[in-house]
Amino acid sequence: MEPSTPSPAKERVSRWRWLWILPRLAFVLFVGGVALLLWMSDRADKEERRATLISDILWLEQNLRFHLSRNEELLGRIDRPHTTNAAAFESFTRTVFGFESGLRQLIWLDPEGAVLLAHPITMDPSLVGDAGETIPSRQSLLLARSLGKPVYSRPYPYFTNDWQFEVHVPVSREGRIVGVTVGVYRIRDLLSDSVPWWLAERYRISVIGDSGSVLGSRSKVESAVTEAGYQVAFDPPGWGLALHAVPYHAPRPLASIVLSASLIILATIVLWSLWILRRHVQRRQTVEAQLRQEHAFRKAMEDSLDTGMRAQNMNGEIIYVNPAFCRMVGLSAAELIGCRPPMPYWADGQLDETRRMHDRILAGEGPEEGFELKLKRSNGDVIDVLIHEAPLIDAHGRQSGWMGSIVDITERKLAEERVRQQQDRLQSTARLVAMGEMASSIAHELNQPLAAISSYCTGAANMLRNHAPTADIVPALDKAVDQAQRAGKVIRRVYGLARHSENRVERVHLGAHIDAALTLMDAEIRQQGIRITLDLATQDVVEGDPVLLEQALFNLVRNAVESMQETPPDQRQIQIGLRCSDGYGLLTIADWGCGIDPGVADKLFDPLFTTKVEGMGMGLAICRSVVENHRGRLSFESNPGGGTIFRILLPMALQ
Ligand code: ADP
Repeated sequence: MEPSTPSPAKERVSRWRWLWILPRLAFVLFVGGVALLLWMSDRADKEERRATLISDILWLEQNLRFHLSRNEELLGRIDRPHTTNAAAFESFTRTVFGFESGLRQLIWLDPEGAVLLAHPITMDPSLVGDAGETIPSRQSLLLARSLGKPVYSRPYPYFTNDWQFEVHVPVSREGRIVGVTVGVYRIRDLLSDSVPWWLAERYRISVIGDSGSVLGSRSKVESAVTEAGYQVAFDPPGWGLALHAVPYHAPRPLASIVLSASLIILATIVLWSLWILRRHVQRRQTVEAQLRQEHAFRKAMEDSLDTGMRAQNMNGEIIYVNPAFCRMVGLSAAELIGCRPPMPYWADGQLDETRRMHDRILAGEGPEEGFELKLKRSNGDVIDVLIHEAPLIDAHGRQSGWMGSIVDITERKLAEERVRQQQDRLQSTARLVAMGEMASSIAHELNQPLAAISSYCTGAANMLRNHAPTADIVPALDKAVDQAQRAGKVIRRVYGLARHSENRVERVHLGAHIDAALTLMDAEIRQQGIRITLDLATQDVVEGDPVLLEQALFNLVRNAVESMQETPPDQRQIQIGLRCSDGYGLLTIADWGCGIDPGVADKLFDPLFTTKVEGMGMGLAICRSVVENHRGRLSFESNPGGGTIFRILLPMALQ
């Protein structure tokens, strides 16, 4: 078995199936691209914010450093008048405070650390003066005095919340340290003085100690921070302090929001349209598959049809033919489609008739019950077809042409012709047989008159030789003439039967022909001693062939005679009656013979059916066909007295 090869359509479909990967790939790439774009935009945004944060905090650190060093310089410039007079010291302090220095207190110490002057005067006695070597201020003081340059103290808590630190600036005159100016910075105040408002709007700025605790900050309490901050060392004052900035949550820029939203909307629209497209394509594919299946089914159905199908449009142009029609006319579909009248398959001898029928069909006047036509095959053979035309309705319900179904009936026609010829042959055979039958009975019949003529003539000759009187001779000769005429009749009957094909139609007097039939059977009738009763109540005549009608009557009389061979001689009789009523003549031939077995009644009129040893079985068949040819009816019934009654019902001729 050959391996089944896939259809070209299927092959095409599987070859391009990989193309389906493309939209999926494009889908993934698109979603990935959009997500990446959003992520990168967000990341760039964050990086930019972080870069700004770093530069801002570095700037702040620089700014603070500048503040502190400027303050150091200012504190180092304290003059003698300031350090000797409280009012001058206060004036100096106000000058320093006026620079937004972040300082909250100035203290003037002698080289040993004793407080000489302070402004404001409030003082934490544990932090300055003689409080001890261990506290941060004391250490800074000693360090500043020994180094001869400004030294910052460790931050320390001031009351509960605030932290502060000090700067100890040694003041020397003429190479000798004359005192130390101490500037006290409260970290919270330092930040509020030094951090500009625009920076404070963006970040929460804190100073963090070496333990990580917040020593002071400038913040908007209501705003939450979201991101990690950035910190730089806060030196001076050093001691592990760090400046820490955390950005506040800033609303994203409108352009960025619009861009992201547009991207998301665009992506959604693209995905949605892709999804719709996919569903649409899937639906189309399903419908296409169904259509292909349907088409294949219809094609298989059309190809398996024996009936030819031919569609033509309203102009009579062929638009479709099925394989059966192509086989029928021996032309291919390509040769047929597009053909216009006269079609190549129209039979040459019937072109005009076919054209007329074609025009009738196009005009919608074709016979609904179909019509027979002769078509020509491409090899010249002529075939008989039966055609039914039906309107071709398109998808919009409009008639677009005519669809013809064509059945090849050539074989059927030939078979019918064969049957007809066979019947003809049978009929002529039957006629010949019947003729033979009749000829033999006629020959038998002729024997009698011929023998009679012979004996009458012999008698007349003897009488002439014996010189008998003429009066004695004439009757014998008259009888011989009668017998000769009877023989002539018999001969004419044979002649008439032989001329059967030339059916004559003339007015036939049935009564006369009954006589004739009886005459033909005269010898048997007399031999069997059969009584004949005639009851001919009418003189009416029928129209028909006298020879055939006489033949029918003869057959019936002969059957009646033959049926009574076993009947006791005294009961042998035949009654023949003729009645007329309602325009019909009824002829009855009743016998008292053997009767007809009901088992064979059905077959009685079949040709060649006989129950007789030497019978031909054609008599009744011929009778019936003769009677029916004369628009009459032949039937039989049982005779109540025994035997059978045959009836012939014939229409009477009009007067
Ligand atoms: P055939 O006389 O050669 O047999 P027919 O066709 O005349 O052929 O008759 C067919 C058969 O019908 C006869 O063989 C006979 O059995 C039966 N038949 C015909 N007429 C009569 C009749 N009057 N009585 C009894 N049987 C009859």
